[in-house]
Amino acid sequence: QKDFGIKEALERLGVKAQNNGTSTGSNSEGNGALIESYSPVDGELIGAVTTTTPEEYERVIETAQAAFKTWRDVPAPVRGEMVRQFGNLLRERKEDLGKLVSYEMGKSYQEGLGEVQEMIDICDFAVGLSRQLHGLTIKSERPGHHMQEQWHPLGVVGIISAFNFPVAVWSWNTALAWACGDVCVWKASEKTPLTSIACQNLIAQVLKDNNLPEGISCIVNGDYKVGEMMTKDERVPLVSATGSIRMGKIVGQAVAARLGKSILELGGNNAIIVTPDADLKMTVIGAVFGAVGTAGQRCTSTRRLIIHEDIYDEVKKVVADAYTQLRIGNPLDEKNHVGPVIDKDSVQNYLNAIKKAESEGGKILVEGGVLEGAGYESGCYVKPCIIEAENEFEIVQEETFAPILYLIKYSGDVHNALAKQNGVKQGLSSAIMTNNMREAHLFLSAIGSDCGIANVNIGTSGAEIGGAFGGEKETGGGRESGSDAWKAYMRRQTNTINYTTDIPLAQGIKFDI
Ligand code: NAD
Repeated sequence: QKDFGIKEALERLGVKAQNNGTSTGSNSEGNGALIESYSPVDGELIGAVTTTTPEEYERVIETAQAAFKTWRDVPAPVRGEMVRQFGNLLRERKEDLGKLVSYEMGKSYQEGLGEVQEMIDICDFAVGLSRQLHGLTIKSERPGHHMQEQWHPLGVVGIISAFNFPVAVWSWNTALAWACGDVCVWKASEKTPLTSIACQNLIAQVLKDNNLPEGISCIVNGDYKVGEMMTKDERVPLVSATGSIRMGKIVGQAVAARLGKSILELGGNNAIIVTPDADLKMTVIGAVFGAVGTAGQRCTSTRRLIIHEDIYDEVKKVVADAYTQLRIGNPLDEKNHVGPVIDKDSVQNYLNAIKKAESEGGKILVEGGVLEGAGYESGCYVKPCIIEAENEFEIVQEETFAPILYLIKYSGDVHNALAKQNGVKQGLSSAIMTNNMREAHLFLSAIGSDCGIANVNIGTSGAEIGGAFGGEKETGGGRESGSDAWKAYMRRQTNTINYTTDIPLAQGIKFDI
């Protein structure tokens, strides 16, 4: 099988057969058990990473805390300069890192490149932000006083990330956190540990070039037990966790129990509403990319198409036809549209979901199944599948992280479609396909979509870094990336300054001695 230059990419990224999973920059340690990373692309062992031991974790946090004391006092635009250099290094290594993301996670090479581009974009955003960490000035009720609001660095930011965006999610957090004066400790997904080694090697280079202390960027590796060390640790004031709702409920409670802050970016159950006024060509592209891109493993993947009954049969036909064009295979080969899912557990979840949908009365429109034979040796390639279903089915209410698309019919006006769309526990991404201005604006209004992301005439998946990213309800409520998401990485301080010789009290309270 062609190797697509993986070996050279790994070499250039400094990823070895065995890697220390704990690092504070240039210094790394590795005494814990090994996590082996197998590629879902061809089932081959790519390399191994050591699990962080409690002793190693302790040293990481102590080093990070010490680094924070220096870093918080570095002028923000100078911190931004470090982020700028990191963005430039990512530009140089874009192809290598994109390839590793594709090979370790299984998304297409194009999407791997897109993920690294997102890292570059958020670095650019953070560089600009480093000169714009603005506070307010506020009028005081007392004579000769003024008030202001400032934003100060928070401390050690813990990042827990999911396998499906193995590098971008880390950078959404770190690029902002570094500009804000924080230091970061990252626990990557145990399903994609090698990407964390590659990223840490890149930032370590920038830190070294600038004579910056160990601890500004740290990684720890392992499963949920390593994540728990961070969620229970009072020295970590903010934990930003991306992953399943199940994980978010545990992490959210653990951090709240010690009154820490958390940013939770959890699962979605995203729908596109297709009204009688939809442009069908756009609908098909939006829906199919949304449903099968990244093999249905994006938090914003399209899981439900809610289609008006008048156009239901027509939409059903064009979408099913488009599925016949899909090429499934090695994601590094750019002629393929759909790569593998992450592992065999994920294949099993996909099969179970199809079975459950059928048992609840779902009708298979495009058949699923696991692919076998040459090119599919990893056992992780599945056929994107379409099922006609009801919104109320238990399985439709859940997020199955696989390429399964449910078609759901609505009748009457768009309010009925909205009731279905909002009628799930998750609230991440949503879209409406319509050329009807009234429908579009209603969808975006207070009585419209209840999701963190609501799009008109584009699909649910694929966001730009300029906007705040995240969702409502069981999606967790956190926001990352653009807009004013940076505020979560800082502490707010209100100042009142008296420039007179009197000391009047607020609310006119008299106190004479
Ligand atoms: P997962 O929940 O299995 O794991 C995510 C991370 O959490 C991993 O690093 C894991 O080790 C860690 N973890 C699990 N239990 C933990 C615990 N008790 N304490 C501390 N850490 C713990 O998720 P996954 O399978 O890697 O990713 C898929 C999920 O992520 C999907 O639900 C997807 O929708 C979601 N996701 C959401 C977003 C978003 O921005 N909303 C982005 C990407 C992925």
